[in-house]
Amino acid sequence: MRASVDRIIDITVGIRPFRAQGPRIEAEHRFGKTVVHHYGHGGSGWSLSWGSAQRALALVQTSGVRPGERIAVIGCGAIGLTTARTAQQAGHKVRLYARDRPPRVHSSAATGLWTPDSRIVTEAHASEAWTAGWEAMARASFKIHQSYLGLPSGPVEWHDGYVVADEDFDKPLPGHIGEPDYPDLAPRIADLRPRGKALQPGEHPFRTPQARRFTQLVFNIPAYQRLLLDDFARDGGELVQREFRQPRDFARLPERLVINCTGDGARTLLGDTSLTPVRGQTAHLIPQPEVDYALIYRGHNLVVLPRRDGLLVAAMGEHDFGNDDLQPDRAHSEDAVLRLAGLF
Ligand SMILES: Cc1cc2nc3c(=O)[nH]c(=O)nc-3n(C[C@H](O)[C@H](O)[C@H](O)COP(=O)(O)OP(=O)(O)OC[C@H]3O[C@@H](n4cnc5c(N)ncnc54)[C@H](O)[C@@H]3O)c2cc1C
Repeated sequence: MRASVDRIIDITVGIRPFRAQGPRIEAEHRFGKTVVHHYGHGGSGWSLSWGSAQRALALVQTSGVRPGERIAVIGCGAIGLTTARTAQQAGHKVRLYARDRPPRVHSSAATGLWTPDSRIVTEAHASEAWTAGWEAMARASFKIHQSYLGLPSGPVEWHDGYVVADEDFDKPLPGHIGEPDYPDLAPRIADLRPRGKALQPGEHPFRTPQARRFTQLVFNIPAYQRLLLDDFARDGGELVQREFRQPRDFARLPERLVINCTGDGARTLLGDTSLTPVRGQTAHLIPQPEVDYALIYRGHNLVVLPRRDGLLVAAMGEHDFGNDDLQPDRAHSEDAVLRLAGLF
């Protein structure tokens, strides 16, 4: 990895729409419409998207909307796009309304790892019933992501990766500062990917004493978004640029059923105080196609992904939870790149 700050070509900042009780997937009747709310996927939106969309569609199908009737989807991020595609596949015509479209949506700032358990619920809300529902969503989503493998633009790929650490892997890590406790959901879906393997000194090139190899699903976000938009248009989908300032604006839509996929935007639009913004910043280094492995520096919150559009270097900050500041902090990203360089 050519980890040097002069290779930074972009720094992106996005917001994870976190809800302590997990995503909101529920229908309500307002202004003579059925509104299916579908937002609040924290750090797991890309990973859980398809399974979550299937659950939202189940609410559409029990709403009395006619088969083939046109429905509205609000939002053009990971959740809006996959919900729109799922509705089309169920036979609906779909009109997608959004204030912003890729690459100006928070979903475009995602790193792109299969992380269905990242900031998706708090320990206190992860009941057995909730966890079983999450597992069903994760499994359904995983299956659909596999159908995007092997395509020329590479929207979904498998990559090996290394978790490296200065200290023993058995030593527990402190949680992120100022954040709630999250449940350990990973064992529920451990069968979905190969087991990690501890490497001995000499079996890896890193300066750290500890390293494990894992194999992980990676989303090349720009390619995935473009493919979803193209497929949506090919199947007759319409995309309309529109901002909704208050829920009453739904009443002006011609469609009887509206799926609200506004992500963090629901905080302002609906005044939903259950949403907490969680900021994330990523440096993009010039693409290095010869680097085909991911890297996680345990205890340093450093994640590096070998995406087709660049080598992505993400590092959590200390004040990201509850923070919706979209201003990039270059010094933070440069520090992350220098820490990465120190590993080799
Ligand atoms: C730095 C970072 C890294 C991440 N990494 C990963 C990862 O590796 N794997 C993973 O699975 N997930 C990851 N995530 C999480 C994932 O990106 C989110 O869960 C996902 O983006 C949520 O998608 P969304 O469609 O709900 O929201 P958004 O992408 O924010 O889309 C919302 C849409 O609604 C529209 N909208 C909002 N308000 C209004 C309004 N009032 N009127 C009209 N339109 C409106 C917006 O314009 C936009 O089109 C990451 C997130 C961040 C920020």
